[in-house]
This record gives sequence, C-alpha cells and structure tokens, in this order.
Amino acid sequence: MKQPLRIAVTGAAGAISYTILFKIAAGELLGKDQPVILQLLEIPPAMKALNGVVMELIDCAFPLVAGISTHDNPEDGFKDVDVAFLIGARPRGPGMERADLLKENAKIFSGQGKALNNFASRQVRVLVVGNPANTNALIAGRNAPDLDPRQFTAMTRLDHNRAVGILANHLSAAPTDVENVIIWGNHSPTQYPDLHKATVKDLPALAQVDRTWYENDYIPTVAKRGAAIIDARGASSAASAAQAAIDHMRDWMLGSGGKVVSMAVPSDGSYGIASGVIYSYPVVCADGDYRVLQGVPVSDFSRGKMAETNHELVDERGAIVDLLPAETEVKFNAVSHPTA
Ligand code: NDP
Repeated sequence: MKQPLRIAVTGAAGAISYTILFKIAAGELLGKDQPVILQLLEIPPAMKALNGVVMELIDCAFPLVAGISTHDNPEDGFKDVDVAFLIGARPRGPGMERADLLKENAKIFSGQGKALNNFASRQVRVLVVGNPANTNALIAGRNAPDLDPRQFTAMTRLDHNRAVGILANHLSAAPTDVENVIIWGNHSPTQYPDLHKATVKDLPALAQVDRTWYENDYIPTVAKRGAAIIDARGASSAASAAQAAIDHMRDWMLGSGGKVVSMAVPSDGSYGIASGVIYSYPVVCADGDYRVLQGVPVSDFSRGKMAETNHELVDERGAIVDLLPAETEVKFNAVSHPTA
C-alpha cells in the first residue's frame, strides 16, 4: 500500500466541499490505490457544521481515508500537506465594492500563503477556487517566498469543462469528441473561451458552427454560466465546481494524457500577458508538472479578448498591490516551459 498523501481543503463545510471531499475520499482524485489524510479547515463559526461533514465521511467507511483532522487555523491545517484546495473565501456582501472584496480576501489568502510557506510539504500543489480566484492565488503565492510561484494555481477548469460541454451539446457530439478548447485569462466574465484551435471529431470547430453564434451566444454563455445556474436552481454550481477542481488537480498530478486543458498559472509573459499575474493558459500536464502550450495562433479577435482579461487581472493586482510583499524571483525552468 502507498504512503498516504495529505490533502488540505479550506471552506470544508461549504457547498463545493460537500461534493469534493467525498470524491477525494472515494479515490477520484489520486486513484483507488492512494490513501489520503484529509486536513479540513474552517472558520470558527463553521466548525460545528464541519463536524457534521466529518461524521458523514466516517459513516462512508471509505477504505482510502487514513485520517481526518479539523482545524480553525492554517498553521495546523496545512502541516505537511501535499495538496491544498483553497475553496473558502469571503463572499461579496451587500454594498461591497469589488476593491473591498479583493482586500478582504487578500488578508485571508496572505495568511494562508504564509502558512503554506512555513508548514506545507515543499512539493505542495495549491489550487485556489475561492473567488476572486486568480488574484487570491497571486496573493497566496507571493506570501510563500520559499515555494516556487508555479506551485500556486487558480481554477478555470470549470470554464474549460463548460466550454467543452456546451460545444459538444450544440453539435450533438460527445465531450470526448472535443479537443483543444482554451480558456484564456481571468475566472470572471472577461474570460475568453477560444475555439480557434478547437476540433470536434478531428475537424475544426469553427468550421462547424456559425461565427455569429460563436461570438454572440457561445462566448457569453460560457462566461456567464455560473449566474445562469444560480438563476435556475437558486443555488450556485457547486457540484460542477467540485468536479472541475478534481479534474485540475488530478491532471496536474497524474498527467493530462497529452490533452490540452486550461489552468490559471503565473504568467511568464507568454502571449504578451503581464508577467506574474495568474492567467489561464492552455497547458499540457505530465510528470507531475504543467507546461504552457506555445505557438497557439492568435487572431486579431483573440488578441483583443486576451488583452481585455489581462487588463482586468492587472487592475485586480493594482487594487491589492499595497498588501503584496516584494516580488520574489519567478523560477521558471526549461522543463516546465519549453517552446513548442
Ligand atoms: P461555496 O463552497 O459554494 O464556494 C466557495 C468559493 O468557491 C467561493 O469563493 C465561490 O465564489 C467559489 N465558487 C462557487 N461556485 C463556483 C463555481 N461554480 N466556479 C468557481 N468558483 C466557484 O461557498 P459556501 O459559502 O457554501 O462555503 C464557503 C465556506 O468557506 C464556508 O463554509 C465558510 O465558512 C468558509 N469560509 C472560509 C474562510 C476562510 O478560510 N478564512 C473565509 C470565508 C468563508 P463566489 O462567492 O463568487 O460564488
């Protein structure tokens, strides 16, 4: 039997965690032969609810769960963790401006970054789900100077999965028929779902759909899918978010099998994006690492969309720049960033 890996989840009593914890425990993240120790974090008022979730995890008698602990502080919760899902975040309150939301979350994620820096495994892989996810990941990474910034990523895999699923549905194809869809930029309405490289059944996707549908219907539908789901079911898209978080981390750790997926990662300036912001790129995962796909053709239409979402991320960084520690050297290496 393999040694257990330690998995931290913040916001562990929340809606997304209510799905993801059971998937991790069932072996959907790391396989049916990999035991896990769950280190669950919550804020003090949610610890009672978290205890209820733990009771349910115990009641499932999952063979792969080698331990469960609960924590109301990141220093204990992140001790020796190999994987960290940062899901809990301060939601926008009534009358709260976006800048206030960024600042409130900056406090949470700077503390979590410091704790990961001081207590997590040196190989820890971090996925930020809590919004504004890209800038929260930037804050956490910048507060962890002893870790590689590339260990901090944010989730655009749900946007990627939505882009695949909605296109497949439109063409009456299977999701497995769809390849090379790309989400560029921020997990926000400025994100750019790009079909210029995509294929469906090995033929160019854009040759199979109407251009007006692509620009005026598909792109906004993907980008605003979260709001549409809240409107329809009166609750947020927690199950699909949990599945996407599993997909992101599983591919990063076990490989994407040569497939292109979207991950928000620290920009090295590729495609003219501001260096250092956490920008969603097309990546291929192998050997426990990801590499940004280079050489993707960028049309004038795409360039404008990619710049718009880049500007938003630069603005978000500007809103919290006072709270960022001095920039550490970004340690990109040849293995992780080859030119295609
Ligand atoms: P959820 O589990 O539904 O959501 C958690 C985070 O994920 C939010 O930032 C949310 O963003 C984001 N998110 C939700 N749906 C999606 C989606 N479809 N795609 C991408 N991101 C998504 O929230 P709950 O309120 O149920 O649970 C949050 C938990 O976090 C609570 O238990 C709370 O106690 C805890 N918490 C922890 C904090 C901390 O660690 N210091 C701080 C604050 C809360 P959005 O808000 O935009 O929907």
